[in-house]
Amino acid sequence: MRVLVTGAAGYIGSHASKRLLHDGHHVLALDDLSRGHQTPMDLLKQSHPDRFTFAHGRLGDRVKVKSLVDDLKIDTVMHFGALAYVGESVDRPLRYYQNNVAGAIAMLEALDCAESPIQRFIFSSSCATYGDPPDDLIPVPETCPQSPTSPYGRTKLHLEQILMDYADHRRAKGSPIALTMLRYFNVAGADSSGILGEDHDPETHLIPIAIQCALGQRDHISIFGTDYPTPDGTNIRDYVHVDDLVDAHLRAMERIEPGRTEAFNIGIGKGASVREVIEAVKRVSGSDFNVQEAPRRPGDAIALFADPSKIQSELGWSAQHTDLDEIVRSAYDWMKAHPKGYDDKN
Ligand code: UDP
Repeated sequence: MRVLVTGAAGYIGSHASKRLLHDGHHVLALDDLSRGHQTPMDLLKQSHPDRFTFAHGRLGDRVKVKSLVDDLKIDTVMHFGALAYVGESVDRPLRYYQNNVAGAIAMLEALDCAESPIQRFIFSSSCATYGDPPDDLIPVPETCPQSPTSPYGRTKLHLEQILMDYADHRRAKGSPIALTMLRYFNVAGADSSGILGEDHDPETHLIPIAIQCALGQRDHISIFGTDYPTPDGTNIRDYVHVDDLVDAHLRAMERIEPGRTEAFNIGIGKGASVREVIEAVKRVSGSDFNVQEAPRRPGDAIALFADPSKIQSELGWSAQHTDLDEIVRSAYDWMKAHPKGYDDKN
């Protein structure tokens, strides 16, 4: 297939691009490099010069998106391009709505007037759309009411709704599209070949921050909230390996037929608390580091872990990496080998 990957220079988009190329597909990688990196784009271009095209640009640039999609005869979109920090979204909500919702609408408008309408759209949605599910809906099924606790989560929910309306419109026009919304839980780890990894600036995610402490790059980690109603008082999340997450995208691309709209949870189905993750990083790295207790971070949900049975039964997907230490080790190995992340920074 001929796939537009938005946010391709980011953590998940770069891993998805690599897998698409490995499986023989063509990739048009679109990224404004505001948060992503040039280095993985260069690496993918070197390994697959004939099937990989990198375009530096914004989602909201309708003219550029339409002309690229027409030139490269794109038939499928994997849409990763988004701002993705819960805490930042609370501080800068309009920026999040502008980028994640308005930018995506502009891209959809460009796609809608392409010479040949796209046939498949796979959207990176989030467990943040569920907000704080009631206790009897944890693990969380896709049918859980969606009530996000942060602007970030709301941008993802709005775009799900906009995409469903767009899919209805395409069906009514007699040009159906396959729409899949993958609601990610917490993604972690790095590509097994050691080429790609997670490099955010600023880094706000739990596993990379704890690893930076283990590597001596930070002097402490703060636990955001120790008085939550959970067994050890800290938030619970479901950490899924990036390679497993990417595999779910490929299955959705290959198996969801035009005319079908589906949402699937992507998680391993087990929760780990913030304290448990920090202990795992200490075990895997063999390093002790300073852990401080801090106030709650606005926007954080209490406990979120997936019921992944729908994607297991409908797409035959299940996580291959289910051990927290193994997932942490995958992230640790990459960060240890790349102590400054990708080499495209000053
Ligand atoms: N967290 C923390 N300290 C940190 C970073 C994160 O205690 O320095 C907590 C955060 O409050 C949340 C969990 O770790 O409960 C996972 O946060 P992360 O930012 O990795 O992912 P999110 O769940 O926000 O997508």
